[in-house]
Amino acid sequence: MSSILIKNIGTLVTGDIENPLRDADSVYIDDGVVRQVGQAIDVPSDQVVDAGGITAIPGLIDSHSHPTFGDFTPAQNSLGWITHYLHGGVTALISAGELHLPGLSLPPPPQVALSLALLAKHCWNNLRPSGATVYGGTLLLVPGLKEEDFDAIAEAGIRLVKFIFYDYSLLPNGEAGRYVKWAKERQIKVKIHSGGVSRSGVSQVAGFDIIQQLSPDIVGHITGGPIPMPEEDVVKIVTETDQYLEICSSGNLRMTARLLEVARDQGAFRRVLVGTDTPGGTGVIPRGMLREIGFLSSVAAVPPPMAIAMATGNVGRAHGLPIGLLKEGRPAHLVLLDRIQGSVAEDALDSFAKGDLPGVSVVITDGVIRISGRSQQTPPPERPATIQGG
Ligand SMILES: [Zn+2]
Repeated sequence: MSSILIKNIGTLVTGDIENPLRDADSVYIDDGVVRQVGQAIDVPSDQVVDAGGITAIPGLIDSHSHPTFGDFTPAQNSLGWITHYLHGGVTALISAGELHLPGLSLPPPPQVALSLALLAKHCWNNLRPSGATVYGGTLLLVPGLKEEDFDAIAEAGIRLVKFIFYDYSLLPNGEAGRYVKWAKERQIKVKIHSGGVSRSGVSQVAGFDIIQQLSPDIVGHITGGPIPMPEEDVVKIVTETDQYLEICSSGNLRMTARLLEVARDQGAFRRVLVGTDTPGGTGVIPRGMLREIGFLSSVAAVPPPMAIAMATGNVGRAHGLPIGLLKEGRPAHLVLLDRIQGSVAEDALDSFAKGDLPGVSVVITDGVIRISGRSQQTPPPERPATIQGG
């Protein structure tokens, strides 16, 4: 695999919410891994990217996605949607369940849910549309699963299970609690569909009480997907639990602004995750993650480097994945971006701060340049990076 030296980076965003900016202007990548980050790195490389003073960020990770199979979604009969998201700076997507499979009964019988998760995981292991990684095969938790089913998914490398269709009137029988225990014993994360009913019409309503009883790792779309739980429940989850708080583009913007207010007061920004909860009724939104970062930065007053960390490093940490940080030893997924001509912003971070979309110039995944010059999904960046070699 080839090596890349990126030089003349204007601003480097790390994805680490504790230390979101780093004083560095160059990144050296070899064999798919970030090897060096620093000032004026000068090593021979197969390709040289001159960033020309623009901003580098880790590849965005959509914390809540609904892939089905391949680069097609039956949710909106849309082809090439993952490629379009890559052009919106999204280098990885985490499945919240392959529940849009045409004809799938909801909730699926337990053996169907298990089979679907294993099949999806198998397929996504072998498929990276345009270079994007899909963490697929998320098991939909339904009544009737056995402990050996959790062995099977753990062995397949599945790292996420999700409550959405589980009938919570069954909680007194202890089964759902055992699912959480079995998952955690196998280092599998548990996510829950929170709030009101989804487009499926059969997802279960979950607010603070259910979430407190189940104790999942991640409260999925806490500010609505599309309907949030009552505001007092949102506040209690921030103040009384240590769960991850996932914000999705499918949600309620007023509640998102409120969540950030409470999270700021609680010093809980490290628990906030960003996703889109698409494809679905909200559509296919290639610029969804960029827009979400812009909303958090410009309306909810989150400093842009921290809002980016909520869409990168926080998501990787919450899901137990090695991605989301632009630092030595991590997989080389990164994006170069800048202000768009005509914007009042000075650069990419200032664009987010002012609520403007930035323009994507370069996207690298696994140490390979997938997009160069400009994205097909954003207006062109004012100062596109230039590439030599390769
Ligand atoms: Zn969802």
